[in-house]
Amino acid sequence: MNHMQANIGRFKRLSPGMVAVLGVPFDKKSSFRRGPALAPPRVREALHSDAANLCAENGMDLAQETGWREIGDLALPDGTTALTGIERAVEDVLSRDARVITLGGDHSITYPIMQAYARAYPRLNLLQLDAHPDLYDELEGDRYSHACPFARIMEAGLVERLVQLGVRTMTPHQRAQAARFGVEVVEMRHWRAGVDLDFAGPLYLSLDMDCLDPAFAPGVSHHEPGGLSTREVLGVIQRLRGPLVGADIVELNPERDWMGMTAMVAAKFLKEILARMLA
Ligand code: MN
Ligand code: MN
Repeated sequence: MNHMQANIGRFKRLSPGMVAVLGVPFDKKSSFRRGPALAPPRVREALHSDAANLCAENGMDLAQETGWREIGDLALPDGTTALTGIERAVEDVLSRDARVITLGGDHSITYPIMQAYARAYPRLNLLQLDAHPDLYDELEGDRYSHACPFARIMEAGLVERLVQLGVRTMTPHQRAQAARFGVEVVEMRHWRAGVDLDFAGPLYLSLDMDCLDPAFAPGVSHHEPGGLSTREVLGVIQRLRGPLVGADIVELNPERDWMGMTAMVAAKFLKEILARMLA
């Protein structure tokens, strides 16, 4: 059985309107250290832990909701061809009129996910929560590095708008890239809690766990002090307007986590995103 065959069977259980929660165990495009490939089972473990329940803060009990389904982890080949596998898998889910939330992986996976989403949603808005703009033209000779996905997305014209929140690592090169692509960057130094984001049309949320201050989320590869609080990110998710059509939760590194704390934060975000998508 090849990788694609291994993936397809589980998608058959999806019906229109459903939200599929899909693990993406991939970290081959990480520049500094590996680990995000290990994240999907850690987030599921936190989600189903006896330490908490499956209710979102608005009272929606996800244990009783039938509109979402966990469909396990993708089986992926090594190297850059994995990105094609991710694109195909997401395309398969979207072709069933279902939506996707992915768990785990480094941020390189957002480019193939957006390639699939752009075909299904031609006027898509993209909100990225991240300490980093990830707009490098290339890093260490790799144009598909986790430092580059948003440059590829913007070059290919895959989205109508890209808005970045939490950024606190701008370099002159990336600032020039942001200007070139018309990226709307809300830098962390200018952030004020309670900002309402208004998107006309469908919205995809790309949530890099390092948008958070390392005090809230130590389990990431790149500790970048001075970030968002867990409460602030929850507020952003809960106040999003417009139809939320998909999300990824990336860059959780269990090898840097402490007592599964960051995995629990990711599980909390998953619950709130699900509640927002199923409302
Ligand atoms: Mn990122
Ligand atoms: Mn980041």
